[in-house]
Amino acid sequence: MNILYDERVDGALPRVDKAALLAELRERLPGLDILHREEDLKPYECDGLSAYRTTPMLVVLPERIEQVEALLRLCHHRQVPVVARGAGTGLSGGALPLEQGILLVMARFNKILEVNPEGRFARVQPGGRNLAISQAAAPFGLYYAPDPSSQIACSIGGNVAENAGGVHCLKYGLTVHNLLKVEILSVEGERLTLGSDALDSPGFDLLALFSGSEGMLGIVTEVTVKLLPKPQMAKVLLASFDSVEKAGRAVGEIIAAGVIPGGLEMMDNLAIRAAEDFIHAGYPVEAEAILLCELDGVEADVHDDCERVRRVLEQAGATEVRQARDEAERARFWAGRKNAFPAVGRLSPDYYCMDGTIPRRELPGVLRGIAELSAEYGLRVANVFHAGDGNMHPLILFDANRPGELERAEALGGKILELCVAVGGSITGEHGVGREKINQMCAQFDADELTLFHAVKAAFDPERLLNPGKNIPTLHRCAEFGAMHVHHGRLPFPELERF
Ligand SMILES: Cc1cc2nc3c(=O)[nH]c(=O)nc-3n(C[C@H](O)[C@H](O)[C@H](O)COP(=O)(O)OP(=O)(O)OC[C@H]3O[C@@H](n4cnc5c(N)ncnc54)[C@H](O)[C@@H]3O)c2cc1C
Repeated sequence: MNILYDERVDGALPRVDKAALLAELRERLPGLDILHREEDLKPYECDGLSAYRTTPMLVVLPERIEQVEALLRLCHHRQVPVVARGAGTGLSGGALPLEQGILLVMARFNKILEVNPEGRFARVQPGGRNLAISQAAAPFGLYYAPDPSSQIACSIGGNVAENAGGVHCLKYGLTVHNLLKVEILSVEGERLTLGSDALDSPGFDLLALFSGSEGMLGIVTEVTVKLLPKPQMAKVLLASFDSVEKAGRAVGEIIAAGVIPGGLEMMDNLAIRAAEDFIHAGYPVEAEAILLCELDGVEADVHDDCERVRRVLEQAGATEVRQARDEAERARFWAGRKNAFPAVGRLSPDYYCMDGTIPRRELPGVLRGIAELSAEYGLRVANVFHAGDGNMHPLILFDANRPGELERAEALGGKILELCVAVGGSITGEHGVGREKINQMCAQFDADELTLFHAVKAAFDPERLLNPGKNIPTLHRCAEFGAMHVHHGRLPFPELERF
């Protein structure tokens, strides 16, 4: 396995005496649930990216914000690193714990504090589940738009930290676009409010800066989200194609026709077959690719848009375009998509989910490139993704029990991300960088940009105690990885030692 762990970052931290810290925590924070035995710590050794595991030194499960405040103060004083964890569904190792650190589990803060239909907002504790917000808002005809496929489990605090996306983000925006205000605790345990109850707030937009900061700038203790009225009507079209490139081209053509669908998702043949086998969604298993296109809004607009999109799809070469006949069929079409990851999981002992974003127009070429890389590395790749956003999710199938396959999967994943960067895209769309993609950050950003990121981190957390070793690579690491952004053929950092 690649050593994705940044030893230098952790190595720079003082070693922690576990017994002494446990004793101090018990004395200073009586009533705080602390896990310290090996068998209790094991369940927390990874997030959704289970290929990377570290047993945390201690796990704490606070129930009151005052406990988190006091914990952070103590950890700051003792220079103990802290990794926040919500529901642990992250796919980039963002909540991967540290052997020499505390894992701060925010899951018990799971209350919806307020649903305000007049102001169209909800106040939620950070451990509240994404779907629970829409469920609480439903009696008022409202919902929370960002809908990661993990929404039955993932927490809103984790969504803020990862700037999570989902099927409906093409039209309604990512988490960052659906937030009003976030309450956080700084590394020193100081309470801060980012954003405001109004639609704008003065000063730098720290709320946007904080969104997607992966637990490295502060701990989310409360989130105020915007609620939207449920669309009057939603219809879904399922279009089949005999090539992935044609389906990829159709995506750009739908948007170019002036329609912004509520969701525009693509699945290739491997994913279609896996989902059909698992969910019986009614997918055409012979198709090389399908597009699911949801149109929502008021009745007259939805009918017009359906006809317009149908024409675009046919002109783009769709072999069949079907409209879900009723709500039950629409739900089945989406169930296939939402369960595509576990469905693909049934095809092979392990899979590795990548997350890169590209300009929409590059979809056909990048899909072809992924197929070529898949053949070159001898590993199957299923594609199921938010096509409208250009947010790719190649799922690389492998068997970790076969020597060398995990390394090959990682190398293939790295190549796919670099392909995304090469066409003007990004190494992450919604899953974050975490531990997983830290090396690819060197390919995405140059030294000046990384230095700026380190400066932002230092402004919030100068001693690098919050989630160290994630997200921002050290310049040394980039030199070692050998993937530093090269400008005009000049070797970056000639002064740095190569390893
Ligand atoms: C089957 C499946 C499907 C998925 N589909 C999607 C999808 O469609 N879209 C998408 O965006 N993601 C998706 N994900 C990834 C994941 O669900 C999201 O990244 C989600 O936002 C993580 O939330 P969590 O509560 O599980 O966070 P965790 O995994 O616990 O943590 C994620 C990051 O957030 C930080 N964090 C957590 N809580 C806090 C807090 N209170 N304060 C500060 N930092 C905190 C952690 O330190 C870590 O860096 C999927 C995952 C799975 C397993």
